[in-house]
Formats: sequence, structure tokens, C-alpha cells
Amino acid sequence: MNKLLADDVYKHFSPVRCSSCGTKNGFNRHIFHITGVQRKKQADDATQNMLQYHFLHYHKIKYVFFRAHSKKFYVDSAKCSSCKSTAIVFDISPDYADYVMSEYKKTIGKNII
Ligand SMILES: [Zn+2]
Repeated sequence: MNKLLADDVYKHFSPVRCSSCGTKNGFNRHIFHITGVQRKKQADDATQNMLQYHFLHYHKIKYVFFRAHSKKFYVDSAKCSSCKSTAIVFDISPDYADYVMSEYKKTIGKNII
């Protein structure tokens, strides 16, 4: 799954709904390029918890998502333009979900549905 997130899926994963007010569009997406984290530590809970804390306290961003792409490490976030909440639900765009599920099944080598 990490490999998938690192390439194709990344592009198709986007903000879909505000969990505060329920609006489904009008998000301001912010992607932060994180430097100084060793690749093998990017998936560690400690690293992600530390970054989550940082974004909550310094950027007032409640929900962040971690991405690795082209050897770079990113934090992905979005803000609702209606209520200014950062508690945004991200999902894979619907037209892409079938492809992702088939790739996911391949990755783990068995049916999950
Ligand atoms: Zn909202």
C-alpha cells in the first residue's frame, strides 16, 4: 500500500467533505513539503505524531495526511472555505476507486471484499 500511495493514488486522493459543516466543495488545499525526515522514518508513528502536533499548534490544521512521492515527503491538508474547519475528509475520487481497489487487492494478494 505504501508503494501505491507513493505514485498513482496520490494524485487521486482529494478533499471530499467537511466533517464540520458537511459541504462538499470549496476547499483550500495545502500541501507542505517536509524536509529533514529520513525516508525510513517517514511512516513511523513518532514522526507522524510529531508532525501532527506541529501542524495543529503552528498552523491550526487539525487533520493532515502523509504522502511520499518521488522521494519527497509531504503533508497534505485542506481547509473548508465555508466554516474554516480543517477537519476535512479525504477520499479517493469515485471514478478512480475501482482501479485503486483492484490494485490494492493485487498488493495484498487476496480478495478483501
Ligand atoms: Zn465546513
